[in-house]
Amino acid sequence: MTTINWLEAWSAEDGARRVDELFTRSFDGSPEGVWSAPGRVNLIGEHTDYNAGLCLPTALPHRTYIALRPREDDLVRLVSAQAEGVWEARLSDVAPGAVQGWGAYVAGVAWALAEAGHKVGGFEAAVDSCVPFGAGLSSSAALEAAVAVALDAVTGLGLVASDAGRAELVDVTRRAENEIAGAPTGGLDQSASLRCREGYALLLDFRPGLKPLESGVPVPFDLATAGLTLLVVDTKAEHSHVDGEYGARRASCEQAAELLGLESLREIAPTLGGMGIDRALAELEPHDADGVLRRRVRHVVSEIDRTARFADLVREGRAADVGPFMVASHVSLRDDYEVSCRELDLVVDSAMAAGALGARMTGGGFGGSAIALVRLADVDTVARAVADAFADAGLTEPVFLLAPPSAPAG
Ligand code: ADP
Ligand code: MG
Repeated sequence: MTTINWLEAWSAEDGARRVDELFTRSFDGSPEGVWSAPGRVNLIGEHTDYNAGLCLPTALPHRTYIALRPREDDLVRLVSAQAEGVWEARLSDVAPGAVQGWGAYVAGVAWALAEAGHKVGGFEAAVDSCVPFGAGLSSSAALEAAVAVALDAVTGLGLVASDAGRAELVDVTRRAENEIAGAPTGGLDQSASLRCREGYALLLDFRPGLKPLESGVPVPFDLATAGLTLLVVDTKAEHSHVDGEYGARRASCEQAAELLGLESLREIAPTLGGMGIDRALAELEPHDADGVLRRRVRHVVSEIDRTARFADLVREGRAADVGPFMVASHVSLRDDYEVSCRELDLVVDSAMAAGALGARMTGGGFGGSAIALVRLADVDTVARAVADAFADAGLTEPVFLLAPPSAPAG
């Protein structure tokens, strides 16, 4: 019988104990405190962020923990249970392109806080995490957000106390990832880790110029009361050509918007008052012999609509009815946006055949994770069906996480 690999979330006590012990073993004395931040999963709204669209993430119960103590000087010294040795740098040496390795995600946050006008000194910190790396569940944002809330506390900034302050920390952590770690991500991950709430999804709107409280709206997503849960499947599929394909998708979207004389593809979406997809496709046809541009546009526009409608259903307490939107999202990402892969398709097909209410790939694609909305009573059946399908296909064993909408960084 195939084994099912569950990745359990640590309890807060367990996470705190791990980093406290790692800190004490690695540095003299005790940390000033322990903070943590979750990974995230996107329910719907994929490849919409760079089209000024909508997406709807929740925070995972899986978190990255950090024990931290400020220093008198500007030295940053870090250890992680997931990395070898001690990572060290002076804050005065941190600049775009100047630091390498995992510590860039940490020192980058201190750098970005300083850039935003806050006074930040050096520190020692120990990190440990049950968020898997590179599974599309945003271990990088969990790390940045954990650092941000820790530095917020030890420097007395108080930004964590309000959603507007948290939105400021989203900008800080996004800058750390973009400019110091050198990863061109759009803010979805950091927003989710810092601004989601337990029992809620976060409707993010990437229209430029919105105020923080308009750009991120909590939507009650009470799965437990509905007898449901979210199953995440880390396919372990190797991402290949991700950067080039991502760049190509972005370029197609920009080209289509320019041909249509729009700022962004969002402006087509009918639920948001746009011209509608039929007119947009007709206008693109003369410039699009192979149909690629039209397929890309059809995904983005339909996905923005699906996200808006999914959020409406969830608001009405109809979480059990969102399944068809998840499947439609997957089909659109697979056929029109062409960012799925064999493993992601297999999760969706096998989970649906085993009784999931909905399933789709999540994250950028070409590997990473898929999600399934399942009745609590069906969790084991669905997980077993997926594990069996992977075994039959001769694929690496996937890893399963249960992901009820969880608490933000704190
Ligand atoms: P993900 O989809 O998990 O965010 P990324 O490639 O964006 O994948 O980020 C993973 C990187 O973040 C790791 O390679 C590492 O550099 C850093 N990272 C995340 N969590 C930790 C941790 N607990 N300890 C050390 N480095 C970490
Ligand atoms: Mg990441």
